[in-house]
Amino acid sequence: MTNFTMSLKLLVNKQDHKIMFAEVNKDFVDFLFYILTLPIGAITKLLAKEPLSGSLGDLYQSIENLNDMYILQNKTKDTVLNPKSSTNVPGQDLLSIPKDPPTNDRKYYRCARLCKYVTDDPKVVCPGCRNAMLNELAYVSTEAAKAVVEEVGFVKDVLTYMVMDDLVVKPMSIISTITYLNNLSIKDISVLEEREVPFGMEEGLKLVNASLVCKNVLTCVFLDSEDHVKII
Ligand SMILES: [Zn+2]
Repeated sequence: MTNFTMSLKLLVNKQDHKIMFAEVNKDFVDFLFYILTLPIGAITKLLAKEPLSGSLGDLYQSIENLNDMYILQNKTKDTVLNPKSSTNVPGQDLLSIPKDPPTNDRKYYRCARLCKYVTDDPKVVCPGCRNAMLNELAYVSTEAAKAVVEEVGFVKDVLTYMVMDDLVVKPMSIISTITYLNNLSIKDISVLEEREVPFGMEEGLKLVNASLVCKNVLTCVFLDSEDHVKII
């Protein structure tokens, strides 16, 4: 569970009961791209409570039901049923998919007197002071060190992005907004309304679900959903 919540600005067409687009920042775009990096098993598990339209839910269930005696000895069903994600974005906690920790299984040890020696075998005796080398050291891989310094996610934080109802992502600009509204022949601007909405765990789940079955995802998630999902 998480309290991480984003905020999106929506441009709503009140007349057609549709969302034209959302004005969002880096966090939301990162979240959308993060969805594409997820293992399909993780998505199936996530939506297990929803009635899935395809067969993936049944496939998932069948592995869950399969007796462990059929699984290879050095494998576990968890690899398939509970796959981890190796991507790191701030909004990922919204979907509660376990993270793959950076591979840091190497352990090193030294003595309590802090002599210059280091070993990977805690049973070794320090050649300097003859004490046991039991003090564990934390190993930092190049990747783990980079992760601390580097920016997280996928896109740059320098501008605002525009996400269309079908989740197409573009950099936001006044010109593209005007062109877009023009293309839709919107003459009466008064049918448009700006709305600010929170985007948390519930909306995140709805969005993943809607993105699998329809083209008007934002409308489904934010303008009362069920009937829209079924129409398309
Ligand atoms: Zn020592």
